[in-house]
Amino acid sequence: MSSVALWWIRRDLRLTDNAALAAALRHAHQVIPVFILDPIAHHGHSVSQRRLAFLYEALRSLDRALRKRGSRLVVRYGKPDDLIPALVRESGATAVFAEEDYSPYARQRDARVAKHVPLHLTPGVVIHPPETVRTADDKPYTVFTPFARAWRALPSPSRSALLPPPTHLPPVPDEITGDPIPIIAGFDWSHFPPSEQAAQERLEHFCHGDEAPIFRYHHERNWLDGRGSSRLSPYFRFGLLSARSAFVTAMEARAKAKTEEAKQGVDAWINELIWREFYVNILAHFPHVVKQNFRQVYDNFPWENDSTLFAAWREGMTGYPVVDAAMRQLREEGWISNRARMIVASFLVKDLLVHWRWGERWFWEQLIDGDPAANNGGWQWTAGTGTDAAPFFRIFHPVKQGEQFDPGGRYVRRWVPALAHVPDRFIHHPWDMPVDLQRKTGCRIGDTYPAPLVDHEQARQRALRLLQQLHRDKQKRDEER
Ligand SMILES: Cc1cc2nc3c(=O)[nH]c(=O)nc-3n(C[C@H](O)[C@H](O)[C@H](O)COP(=O)(O)OP(=O)(O)OC[C@H]3O[C@@H](n4cnc5c(N)ncnc54)[C@H](O)[C@@H]3O)c2cc1C
Repeated sequence: MSSVALWWIRRDLRLTDNAALAAALRHAHQVIPVFILDPIAHHGHSVSQRRLAFLYEALRSLDRALRKRGSRLVVRYGKPDDLIPALVRESGATAVFAEEDYSPYARQRDARVAKHVPLHLTPGVVIHPPETVRTADDKPYTVFTPFARAWRALPSPSRSALLPPPTHLPPVPDEITGDPIPIIAGFDWSHFPPSEQAAQERLEHFCHGDEAPIFRYHHERNWLDGRGSSRLSPYFRFGLLSARSAFVTAMEARAKAKTEEAKQGVDAWINELIWREFYVNILAHFPHVVKQNFRQVYDNFPWENDSTLFAAWREGMTGYPVVDAAMRQLREEGWISNRARMIVASFLVKDLLVHWRWGERWFWEQLIDGDPAANNGGWQWTAGTGTDAAPFFRIFHPVKQGEQFDPGGRYVRRWVPALAHVPDRFIHHPWDMPVDLQRKTGCRIGDTYPAPLVDHEQARQRALRLLQQLHRDKQKRDEER
């Protein structure tokens, strides 16, 4: 056993089920936990202050957990390419252990660092790394259903495979100094307390007992307020919880489920964990999706990219209650449900004809769980430009979606105060209220609440016409070749 190793923490801010930490402890007597605040990720273009604030709080929490065990977190500010080799020299470490990350940025960074230090990457971001889920002819999957089938056929982790958190850790020598973890004040963390313990408690709550929410997930996941889903995404994003722990806990709940119906809830949830891994797989194998449509035919789509319409969408001022409520919640809380994400994304891309990359960027700036793979996958899926995409002609109807998933209008009333007194029958299309009712309810269209930016039916027809034209043009080009 050699004497010193670095545990380079990136998006695995946890002590439980951490293969990189376990490998470092096996390798060396002394393990130095280190986190590098890379200026690109921390001060770059369109960085989310909220997500950074969450990360910093989670780092503080991890530092506290390490100190309880005799260690501490060393944070340094600068480029990992310089700092990791410098720390290796300074500490006399003989190896660096880190959890493998598959985004193009992470892969390039790790390749550069590995030229200078012995970098050992362990799995953990996903249960089954991209290179292990391949087609029979050894190609990456580009369609979800066969990917999920292949994923499920691989050996699943069990409780005994999960790595327990270490009870004691070797102290970090005093001469290894760190920079302070920045503070970004002004965010309310009551919805997403940034700690490993909070992640575990949330998972427990979601999966525990005869009435566990996971058993109803398939029915309640589409509630617009997000109460029907786990709300674990920020914890997965930064690895405060391992995907393996989540999977094992869900499967244990499934084993205790009393009805087939309850089992279906668990299966539906696990399916979402697989979607998460699917998009990691897509980003790893097709890094061009970061900047381009997966399906090239959409490269010629005549987006209008009207910045006034885009601003109204961002501000939650489209005149469609369900879109506006979700966009306001996004700004306020940095999180919205999957259903809300799909509705607002569809509206931006198909009703307003704004390129999905504009929306993706806005989500990236707002979301606590903003994740390069899932965000890109979600936007390309909704836009119809992605791998496993919803067809472009599937256009979410903002009124019907509201009526279906927020029938009493509780969600929209909460986020759009101007709608507070609108009767249920008009709540998702307040513009249909007679003028005297508008006056009585205080929801005066075009005054206290905007008139709809576009007529949905006309916008839908326009999007479909453009789509048909796009395909006709492509066909013509193909024939001329
Ligand atoms: C336009 C758009 C953008 C999105 N951007 C992100 C993003 O930046 N970060 C992010 O984590 N998710 C993103 N999603 C996926 C999904 O909306 C969120 O993961 C989910 O709403 C988080 O809530 P939850 O934790 O309660 O999820 P649950 O429903 O409880 O699901 C459990 C976990 O599975 C994963 N998951 C669930 N649905 C999906 C999905 N469709 N794709 C990939 N993973 C999924 C998440 O890690 C989630 O925490 C996006 C979806 C769309 C349509």
